[in-house]
Amino acid sequence: MVDEMGVLSDMLKTNEYEFWFVAGSQHLYGEEQLRNVARDTEAIVNKLNESGKLPYKVVCKGVMTTAEGITQFMKDVNYNDNVAGVITWMHTFSPAKNWIRGTKLLQKPLLHLATQYLDNIPYATIDFDYMNLNQSAHGDREYGYLNARLGLNNKIVYGYWEDEEVIQEVADWQDVAVAYNESFHIRVCRFGDTMRDVAVTEGDKVEAQIRMGWTVDYYPIAELVAEIEKVSDGDVEKEYQKLQQDYELNVGNNAQDKFEHSVRYQLKQYLGIRSFLDKKGYNAFCTNFQDLAGMEQLPGLAAQLLMRDGYGFAAEGDWKTAALTRLLKIMAHNDRTVFMEDYTLDLRKGHEAILGAHMLEVDPTIASDKPKVEVHPLDIGDKEDPARLVFSGMEGDAVDVTIADFRHGFRMISYPVDCRKPEAETPHLPVAKQLWTPKVGLKKGSTEWIKAGGGHHTVLSFRLKEEQIHDLAVMLGMELVEIQ
Ligand code: MN
Repeated sequence: MVDEMGVLSDMLKTNEYEFWFVAGSQHLYGEEQLRNVARDTEAIVNKLNESGKLPYKVVCKGVMTTAEGITQFMKDVNYNDNVAGVITWMHTFSPAKNWIRGTKLLQKPLLHLATQYLDNIPYATIDFDYMNLNQSAHGDREYGYLNARLGLNNKIVYGYWEDEEVIQEVADWQDVAVAYNESFHIRVCRFGDTMRDVAVTEGDKVEAQIRMGWTVDYYPIAELVAEIEKVSDGDVEKEYQKLQQDYELNVGNNAQDKFEHSVRYQLKQYLGIRSFLDKKGYNAFCTNFQDLAGMEQLPGLAAQLLMRDGYGFAAEGDWKTAALTRLLKIMAHNDRTVFMEDYTLDLRKGHEAILGAHMLEVDPTIASDKPKVEVHPLDIGDKEDPARLVFSGMEGDAVDVTIADFRHGFRMISYPVDCRKPEAETPHLPVAKQLWTPKVGLKKGSTEWIKAGGGHHTVLSFRLKEEQIHDLAVMLGMELVEIQ
């Protein structure tokens, strides 16, 4: 697993992101109070970093008191690639006209931490010195008015800065902000077009680049086949050894040599696709079973291992879901966040559920048992029997998300779901499976999903919260239908 984690962290490697923190104030209360503001700001930043709960470092950038200073600060944020966003705090009253120019220039996510240095009203000692320094109650309102007037839709986290809940909200937002920054580095490689005649996997690739920053390119399958053929037997053998350690190889009814050939061919595809993507700088890809000329098998195990490593993927040429998988994997640190498909239904009262799966390509990071490598026929695609990982999914709370493209723009559709393991084995359906029910119920959840035009390809995440999906849609300026 050490090797696996190594690959994983390599693949998810992003900038060394940090967040810049500033306090708003003004010169009305004298230099001593400004020094106090600076001192308290540093104390808050230190506490946030020491909490161990933040996925990214917060850097204290001091106190802002003038329009010129604020404007320069925001310009610096924009042009520093390591800065993923800004956190502001109004310790005193900071006249918001000073923030107009800078805030309008800011091109990165903004979190307004609406907090107060003390969590109580010090009745016995409170005086005008105290009030000259501690003005968050009205300072937050003045600052918030300006952001509302600018239509910023920035994040507001309200509450005491030492509270675990408040720190967690900042942490959750940091993950969204980094995903937003990384969205502009998502590059999807399409091997083949979208599946013939299918509507929901289509979309406007130019608009996706304008809105989300996604580069979506096509490469002929022949070029990928050439890269796969270059993979050496020695490299395949090394992966075969690793596979035996990580998973259970289940030969089943296959002849041993047929089984081994099928698995080795998938490993060759795995290494070939990875090398192709890495050389050309892609971090997500899609395949189409209708376009496999020159390949022995549809990439099954190969796609599963690449998803495990952190690459975005979706089948049938669905580049939108491939990009979304990569985006949400970054947001979730590749923790149980996977490409999924609504596969079949249980409509009986008391059992209402969707069984999620795919022909082959289900990400093993949601396995609750040790995945088995198996080789079985696939009735479509007209190729040799592909190797795939077979396993059961997990129990717990999750969110399920998709993106559909309409003439007027992209729409994100999501709902929180309850996940559980399938009720029984499926001996004649040898694929990985995950069962879930929308928290609003299957009937309401699915009705609303269908009404909103949400497709069958989704990203299911056990790590992300509905609030984070909401924040992401807001940052991307995308319409969101939340079914909850
Ligand atoms: Mn599909």
